[in-house]
Amino acid sequence: MAKYSSKINKIRTFALSLIFVGFIVMYVGIYFRTSPIIMTIFMLFGLLFIIASTAVYFWIGMLSTKTIQVKCPNCGKHTKMLGRVDMCMHCREPLTLDAKLEGHQFDESYNSKKSGK
Ligand SMILES: [Zn+2]
Repeated sequence: MAKYSSKINKIRTFALSLIFVGFIVMYVGIYFRTSPIIMTIFMLFGLLFIIASTAVYFWIGMLSTKTIQVKCPNCGKHTKMLGRVDMCMHCREPLTLDAKLEGHQFDESYNSKKSGK
């Protein structure tokens, strides 16, 4: 399970955690059922998280159409990659489409011009 950690999977994990957060927030809201206003606020926040996760899932769908299928040089399996650098989903081999980055330390920040932080 931890093996597959390419970008799309990370986003998928994020979307899944949003659903969990949404349910936890809604569950907390039940404890405030004596106060309908607070309960409604919690319910709306929980719903917001679930809507956000739906949006993230939609985004994954959009991203999936942009992935490039490559054959991993390390394990020989076909993997999908996103952006200029990504990881093989089978063996976590760093992959790059940019010849200039070949041989460099694997760094996901190559994908965005802004620094990660
Ligand atoms: Zn591989």
